[in-house]
Amino acid sequence: MQVVRDERELRARRAQLPEPVGFIPTMGALHAGHLSLVERARSECASVVVSIFVNPLQFGPSEDYGRYPRTPERDCELLAAQQVDLTFMPTQAAMYPVSPVVSVDPGDLDKHFEGARRPGHFRGVATVVLKLLHMVTPQRAYFGQKDAQQLAIIQGMVRDLNVPVEIVSCPTVREQDGLALSSRNAYLSPAERSAAARLSTALRGIAERLRAGETDIHDMIAHATRLLPPLEPDYLGVVVPDAFVPLATAPPKSHLLVVGAALAGKTRLIDNIEAQTP
Ligand code: AMP
Repeated sequence: MQVVRDERELRARRAQLPEPVGFIPTMGALHAGHLSLVERARSECASVVVSIFVNPLQFGPSEDYGRYPRTPERDCELLAAQQVDLTFMPTQAAMYPVSPVVSVDPGDLDKHFEGARRPGHFRGVATVVLKLLHMVTPQRAYFGQKDAQQLAIIQGMVRDLNVPVEIVSCPTVREQDGLALSSRNAYLSPAERSAAARLSTALRGIAERLRAGETDIHDMIAHATRLLPPLEPDYLGVVVPDAFVPLATAPPKSHLLVVGAALAGKTRLIDNIEAQTP
């Protein structure tokens, strides 16, 4: 596996890779969720490129940019073992040689849920992903459904800005008790870790009621919120996957997403579960 750190070297190596090229952007501290994206790309593409970059643009001033877990040596070992062809690990100066003036506006998809809680987050995500897509020029790029609002924004960006890449969405990988894998789970104390699965349990409860034909979303959310403590509830909601506007009543025969966020101590957990209404 080749590891490159600047754009010139990346473009030179990329030009030699057999196509189609599959690309997985990450912030590192890799876990089985990331590796499932790599495996999917490996099975569908002639070459696989992974990027590892903790993007300062997507962290708010009071967020965890400084202490975000960074495990570059272990990450490279894991990626080499997965037969990744090329890993791009740019420095901050390589990604942002000057302070950026132009960025990507995620529009209405940024108004609710994560977008409302983390102002500027999705602008930072969309901007860095667009830059990486331009640098790597993959035929396909792989994203996790774990970050469903991010996925909707990336799909919207690629469609609306005519980016020539196919976005592939991949299922969320979970621990046995249902907790979605996340690099931030490393922050959890043993007590927080054992409470953390309550978020996915609460989301599953709402999804089951939607599947059973219940329509009063406020009632479902009120009930599920009571299941969360000792987690501190942030939000629960039900959305159409490509819109991310909170619904009050579940429409029939619809593919919906139940989304949620909660705090385990200081660690923010987010998750979502699909539900089809009858
Ligand atoms: P991150 O390193 O957190 O920026 O994540 C990089 C990619 O991995 C994103 O597309 C995430 O949605 C995806 N990802 C993170 N956690 C999981 C998971 N548990 N299952 C599947 N994909 C995931």
